[in-house]
Amino acid sequence: MRSRRGLFKLWIGVALIAAGVGCSGKRTSDETPAAASPEMGTKVNQYSTYRLATDLSVLADKERQMLPLLIDAAREMDALFWEQAYGNRDSLLAALGDPAMRRFAEINYGPWDRLDDNAPFVPGVGPKPPGATFYPRDMTREEFEAAAAADETLRDQYTVVRRDAAGKLVAVPYHQVYASRLARAADLLRQAAALAEDAGLRRYLELRADALLTSDYRPSDMAWMDMKSNTIDIVIGPIENYEDALFNYKTAFEAYVLVKDQEWSQRLARYAQFLPALQRGLPVPEAYKKETPGSDADLNAYDAIYYAGDCNAGSKTIAINLPNDEQVQLAKGTRRLQLKNAMRAKFDAILLPIAGVLVAEDQRQHVTFDAFFANTMFHEVAHGLGIKNTIDGRDTVRRALREQFSALEEGKADVLGLYMVTELHRQGEVPNAKIEDFYVTFMAGIFRSVRFGASSAHGRANMTRFNFFQEMGAFTRDEASGTYRCDFAKMNEAVAALSSKILMLEGDGNYEAAAEFTNRMGVVSPALQKDLDRLGSAGIPVDIVFEQGKEVLGL
Ligand code: ZN
Repeated sequence: MRSRRGLFKLWIGVALIAAGVGCSGKRTSDETPAAASPEMGTKVNQYSTYRLATDLSVLADKERQMLPLLIDAAREMDALFWEQAYGNRDSLLAALGDPAMRRFAEINYGPWDRLDDNAPFVPGVGPKPPGATFYPRDMTREEFEAAAAADETLRDQYTVVRRDAAGKLVAVPYHQVYASRLARAADLLRQAAALAEDAGLRRYLELRADALLTSDYRPSDMAWMDMKSNTIDIVIGPIENYEDALFNYKTAFEAYVLVKDQEWSQRLARYAQFLPALQRGLPVPEAYKKETPGSDADLNAYDAIYYAGDCNAGSKTIAINLPNDEQVQLAKGTRRLQLKNAMRAKFDAILLPIAGVLVAEDQRQHVTFDAFFANTMFHEVAHGLGIKNTIDGRDTVRRALREQFSALEEGKADVLGLYMVTELHRQGEVPNAKIEDFYVTFMAGIFRSVRFGASSAHGRANMTRFNFFQEMGAFTRDEASGTYRCDFAKMNEAVAALSSKILMLEGDGNYEAAAEFTNRMGVVSPALQKDLDRLGSAGIPVDIVFEQGKEVLGL
């Protein structure tokens, strides 16, 4: 369940103040022209503004009529997330005289800076309670554990913990605590369901409305996985548990309103069919490729037209992997959703400017959104390559490699994604694209990922790849300009060598060797650090914020 943010974590990092450029936040109405403090202005400018829209002409009339209803339902999730993360939104915003500070509070859904480890930015508010508003502020962990031993519902992901009149901890279900907003959202989903011509979508919307009113989400999660032919989608409800930093029990409200990119989705289904043949061609001994990958990955591309609540707070999610309910996963698998326009926003605002600083001038033309998006998609498909069990049959690779697994597995998907694209391109299956685009864009993507250092597992995985490629001469640094370039012939060799290395570490399930490899290779060299430091002074944004809603869409 934690993998949804795997990809987007590559985008964020610890605190960084990006100076100057970029669009400032949109002003809300009726503002007194109070002076914005320069420090707050700088913080707001860490976020580049992007208009969230898509081509709605692909929709039928009734589908278009559903969108305002779904957006209004999503807005209820937005208000509910404010309540969960902070408390009363309106009184906080009204108390802030500095418009930049108010804008920053809107972006963060509260007075704590999400890109800076939740440091408070409003004087006097104090640190963010780790349990947000899910638990009483004066509750200790010990008190909770003692009470939860007698009452399991205190741990339930759809309850808040409160004190009764006698001060005893009690669980209150979401559908009671947040009853009126959930009733409004459910009503809107039912109105949208009545317009739905796709039977699967209609059933899902009806069951999701029921779920909001009962806190029983499983039937609607099942229906969501059964739904295949819909163009419109909405992910809505209490979903991820990161906002509960105390125990990770409680789920936070969010919503995405989505329009499926049917063309890309069909291309993905087609690429997945090549997996068994690509598996046989992997550059490793037979034992390391003896499993046959499934070719029915539920992987689709979407444009998002509305983000609300948890997923819209601070750093923006650009890929989703749901549902989180393990019973549903066992019965139906999971669905991966790649949010194409949100990726485009990050590409334009962040990746291109990074390439402008760190990629050799004559190769910058090869940094393209199409290659970036394709690399990301091939990464997802490439998770299906390799093997899930160690070659001695002793255990699953995941269990054998313990906490080393996820970084190695992400590294595997990255390099095998490039292997896939190379092979498919050679077979003429990737039309209208230059292989150089995929390679140079891949390199630029590494700079983006390690911009904030190699402290996270993903950062280490990216550094490992960068250092490996540089050692093999696939990436070279030009001393005079401080820029990097790809050697295309050596890229092929490096892709094969690193693929083989990682596939064998996984197949052997060798924990010590995996840890040694990542620790040795996953470090930022002083030379690269100096180059990365130039990005900070270039004022490149850290994340994006959306201008979104019915008006933006012309609805
Ligand atoms: Zn991945």
